[in-house]
Amino acid sequence: MDKVLANIIKNTSAYRVFDRDIENSFCHAYLIISPDTLAQNTLVELVTLRVYCKTACSLCTECKKILSGVKPDVKTLNPDGKNVTVEQISEMINSSYLSPVESGEKLYIIKNFDNQSVVVQNKLLKTLEEPPESVHVILTASSTIGILPTVLSRVKKVTQSLFRSTEIKKWLLAMGVESADEISKAAGGSFTLAQTLASDEKFFDNAYELLNVYNSVKESGSVPRLLKNKVFTNLAEALNITEIIFKDVLYTKVELTDYVTLINFRNELRNLSEALTITAISNIMSEVIISKQKLSCFVTEINIIDCFLLKIAEEKSKCKK
Ligand SMILES: [Zn+2]
Repeated sequence: MDKVLANIIKNTSAYRVFDRDIENSFCHAYLIISPDTLAQNTLVELVTLRVYCKTACSLCTECKKILSGVKPDVKTLNPDGKNVTVEQISEMINSSYLSPVESGEKLYIIKNFDNQSVVVQNKLLKTLEEPPESVHVILTASSTIGILPTVLSRVKKVTQSLFRSTEIKKWLLAMGVESADEISKAAGGSFTLAQTLASDEKFFDNAYELLNVYNSVKESGSVPRLLKNKVFTNLAEALNITEIIFKDVLYTKVELTDYVTLINFRNELRNLSEALTITAISNIMSEVIISKQKLSCFVTEINIIDCFLLKIAEEKSKCKK
C-alpha cells in the first residue's frame, strides 16, 4: 500500500465519515463517488482495513491478511472494475446469508457500480432492502449516472472531493517525479490524472507541439495541413492536454499567471491568448468537452480534430472583426 497516498486519504472528509460510522453505527451499504480511480481504490482499501483495525495501520496481522487478499470475510467481486456477472452477484447474495467465517463483519465490495447491468443492480437491491446482519456492501462509482434510483435511495453516498495540488505534489515528490510542480497543477485535483501525466514522458513535448498547432491555425484553409500532425495520434491524451492549454490561455488572458500550469511555454500561451477574446476562449473550452464526448461515442477521430481546429479558426476570425 502506498503510504504517502494512504496518509493523504486518511485526512479526507470521506475517510472520516467511514471512521466515525464504523466506530458508532456502520451502515449496511455505501456508495463512494469519485472519478479519481486511484484515490477511490485507496479509500476502499483503507475503509476495509478500518473495519477490522481501529487505526487501519496496514501493519498488524488483520491488516496484512486483508492486503494480501486472504481475509475470508472480505470479498471484492470485481477487483479490476470489470462487469459483474449474474452468477457472481447470485453467489454473493447466497453467501451473504452465511455467518462470517471469523467473528465480526462481512464486507462485499463492487467497483464501478455505475457500469453494472440493470439485472445485476436489481439483484443486489434485495440485499440492500433486507441486509443480513453484519453484512456491509461498499459500491464505488465515478458518478451516480447509470445507477438505479432504487439503489441510490438505499445507500449512504460518500463523495470524495478533489485534492489540493500541494497534496498531489507531495505524493509525486515522494515517488521521485521530477516535474512534480507542473504535473500537480495540471492534474486538476486528481491523483489518477497525476499518475497518467507522470508516466507520460512526452507530456510537455506534446503540450508544446499542440500549442504550436493552435497558434498556426489561421483561416479554415490552414486546417487540412495541421490535421495530420502526429500529436493527435493519441487523441484522448491530446484532448486532456488541450483542456489544460486553454485553461492556461484563459489565465494568461485575465493576467492570473500564477495559476498557469505550462509555465515554460509562457510566450506560446501569450500568442494564443492575444488572438482570442475571453468569450472565444470559453467557446473553445466548451468545444474540447464536446470533442471528448464525441470520442467516447466513437465518432471518427479525424472528424473530431477537423471540427475542433475549424472551431479555433472560426473563433480567431470572429476576434479579428
Ligand atoms: Zn492494522
